[in-house]
Order: sequence, then structure tokens, then C-alpha cells
Amino acid sequence: MDSYTQIVLASRPSGVPRPENFRIEKGAVPKPLDGQVLLGAQYLSLDPYMRGRMNDAKSYSAPVSIGGVMEGEVVATVLESKHPDYRSGDLVQARIGWRTHAAVSASNLKRVDTGGNPLTTALGVLGMPGFTAYSGMKVIGQPKPGETVVVAAATGPVGSLVGQLAQLAGARAIGIAGGPEKCAYLRDELKFDGVVDHRDKKMAEKLAELCPDGIDVYFENVGGPIWQAVLPLLNRYARVPACGMIAYYSGQGPAEDGLLSQTMIAVVRRSLLVRGFINTEFVEEHYDGFIKELAPKIASGRIRYREDIVSGLESAPEAFIGMLAGRNFGKLLIKVS
Ligand code: NDP
Repeated sequence: MDSYTQIVLASRPSGVPRPENFRIEKGAVPKPLDGQVLLGAQYLSLDPYMRGRMNDAKSYSAPVSIGGVMEGEVVATVLESKHPDYRSGDLVQARIGWRTHAAVSASNLKRVDTGGNPLTTALGVLGMPGFTAYSGMKVIGQPKPGETVVVAAATGPVGSLVGQLAQLAGARAIGIAGGPEKCAYLRDELKFDGVVDHRDKKMAEKLAELCPDGIDVYFENVGGPIWQAVLPLLNRYARVPACGMIAYYSGQGPAEDGLLSQTMIAVVRRSLLVRGFINTEFVEEHYDGFIKELAPKIASGRIRYREDIVSGLESAPEAFIGMLAGRNFGKLLIKVS
């Protein structure tokens, strides 16, 4: 308890990150100053966007510096408070990064609000990834009864909620995932209307068979060959919430897959609405509705979620590298303490 552990960026990866790109450091637990609280992290969320922060490249957020603590959000317990609004034992969310303890200003905290659902949901289905699915579907996807919605990375916290929201709106949900176990989960437990394994050589043909009336909403999480399979199936006026392109995050996708011109022609000829978004732009208008609408559905089991919890902060680099290769099965969290 007197020492903290943190994980810093030791070097920038070229391609897929390796364990040596990270370094574990230890030090004395800081004392909170006036206006601050000392936090002990309980769970750390590991998310695909962290791969982007490891590059020294221009993006919507600044990169982590070499030697800097890896970025990330935790749910934490207040261990000591020098702020009147917080007491020892309070549960909060904060972006303290990959570390066990931190002394932070109270203005950087948010109280955990899961509407009675487990604490971990604050980082998954009722946290940033869940809100991404909810707001992307509400503002951009707007599924209608009878329409076909396709989503890849479909067992993750974003994709699994996208499919379930599609079904709640009366649309058909088609999920794309890697491997038979993930596909069985989508088909048998979440009851998606159709499932395709993206490792199957006939992925494009199988997707076309499952979408005889084309695709009305494609929630884009992946890019690469999945986009190539989706593009010819997009209906007139299809909506494409462009949420993420994980196939390209480590630069392993083809730099120019020759589809740019076809994509742009399809956007024009089929009047496609392709809208990129970062979930934070929708927070002000839609966050309260998200918790109010979803927390009871999660508590009643109407919306289901799956978590993949790995023990120990030291395991974070390996777990993160595994997620980029699809080895996580559900929302990836580190149980810090
Ligand atoms: P997941 O928990 O679903 O983990 C990532 C998954 O992506 C892997 O498990 C793997 O699943 C899949 N994947 C990885 N590489 C490939 C590939 N080359 N081809 C196909 N699938 C691949 O992640 P999240 O639900 O947290 O995030 C999903 C997407 O949403 C990401 O692109 C992320 O960056 C984006 N996002 C965007 C936000 C925004 O504000 N715009 C906010 C949050 C997330 P499988 O084994 O099934 O292939």
C-alpha cells in the first residue's frame, strides 16, 4: 500500500506493439494536496484507442510521451480526501492512466453511476464504449423496423450493444466476429439474426447471403476486408457511423487498398451518409438519456454484456496487445486491486 505501480510508454511501436514498448515502474504513493484526493484504482479499462496514443501522430488527442504513463480510465476508491465533497470509500471514475494509485484534483472526478448495475459496467456497457454504441446509433445509425444493421468486432462492448440496440429498434442485427466461439455467443446468447466469421475465406459471400435486402446501417469498427465485403451491399441512403478502424491501428492493413475511389463513388451514387464521430461530441445532449434508458434494461437482462477481466496491472501490456489481435472476448478490463 505504500508503493504504487504504473506502466509507462518505453518506446513507440512500429506495427503491432510488443511488451518492450511498455515499462513497469514503482514509487512511493503520493500524498494528496489540498483540493485533491488519493485514489486506489479498482478496474482499468483497456481500449483500442490507446494504440493511437502510442504513435507520435496528429490525432483528435495528444500522444502519450515517451516515459509518460499510458492513458486510460479507471473506477477507483477514494483512499484519502483533502476535498470537502469526497470521503474515504467513495467510488469514482477518473482518467489516471495505467496506475494503481494517483493523487488528483477533485475537479477531474466523476461519481460512478451505474443505476445499480455492477461497478465494472461503468467502464463498459454503461461507460465510454456503451455510450459510443448508443450515441452512434441514435444520432447517425437510426435503425428502423425491418432494416438490416451490420456490425463487426461484434462481441466487444461497442459492437455487442450496437446489435442489441438494432434489434430493440425492430431491425435485423448481423454480427461479424473472429472465430467460432465468438460467433456462437452472438448467435446463441445474444440472439443476433445472423453471424459471420471474418476469418472464413467466404466471409463476403456469407455476409451477402445474410443480407438479401442489402445493408441499411453499417456500424464501422474495423475497416479493411470487412469494409470491402460491406461496400457492395450498402443500400441507397444507408447510414455508416464511422466509429473505428481497428484493422489499421497498427498499420498492418494495406496502406492503399484500392477501394478509395469505389468508396467515394458509392457514397455519391447511393447517397450514403458516412459520418465519423468521437463519442465525446454527443455527451452533452445524449449522456443522461443513455444511462436512464440503458441502466434498467441491463439490470433486467434485456440488454446483455460480456466482460473479460484480467488480474493485475502488470498484465495490462499483454492483455492490450492481445485485444488488438482479437484475443479478448468481451469488454477488456484489468482488475487492479
Ligand atoms: P473490442 O473489445 O471489440 O476489441 C477489439 C476487437 O476488434 C477484437 O476483439 C477483435 O474482435 C476485433 N479486431 C481486431 N483486429 C481486427 C481485424 N483486423 N479485423 C477484424 N476484427 C478485428 O473493442 P471496442 O468494442 O472497445 O471497440 C470497437 C471499435 O470501436 C474500435 O475500432 C474502437 O477504436 C472504436 N471506438 C470508437 C470510439 C469513438 O468515440 N469513435 C470510442 C470507443 C471505441 P474479433 O476477434 O471479433 O475480430
